Parts: sequence; C-alpha cells; structure tokens
Amino acid sequence: MYRKSRITWLINSFRDYQCGCGESELCALEWYPHHKKIRNLVYRNSAKSEARQEAITLMEECTPVCRNCASKLQYGLQPFVL
Ligand SMILES: [Zn+2]
Repeated sequence: MYRKSRITWLINSFRDYQCGCGESELCALEWYPHHKKIRNLVYRNSAKSEARQEAITLMEECTPVCRNCASKLQYGLQPFVL
C-alpha cells in the first residue's frame, strides 16, 4: 500500500491547472507524457527525497491533461490545441 499523503500530494499538484478541454477534476488529470514515471517517483519515495525533486522537475516539462485527452494524445489524435 502506498501512503495516502503521497497520493494526496500528487493529486494536489494539479490544483492550479485544468485540461485544455475544460476538465478540472483533479483526480481525472495526469502529467502528460511522463505521468507514470512521476507517479512512481512520488509514490515510492518520501517527500524529502531527491526523487520528489526529480518528479517536480519532470512536471515542469509536462502538460496537465485529463485521462480522456491523454488517451487521445497517445493515439496521435489532437484533443485540443496545446
Ligand atoms: Zn481533457
């Protein structure tokens, strides 16, 4: 089991963002295209670890999008103009 605080931290990382399609539900958002890597870094390491810093650096290179739009992006469709 992952710690709840880490899951909450990741969800809260979206609080100032919304998807280009208008979706602003935090738990529907992900960091495209590095979400899996960021999630693993955050869930598996403590808040004070270097991994958390690495996750924050990766987020700066990412765009927050909702799951619907992320799957469209993965299939090469344009859900909205980035
Ligand atoms: Zn969207």
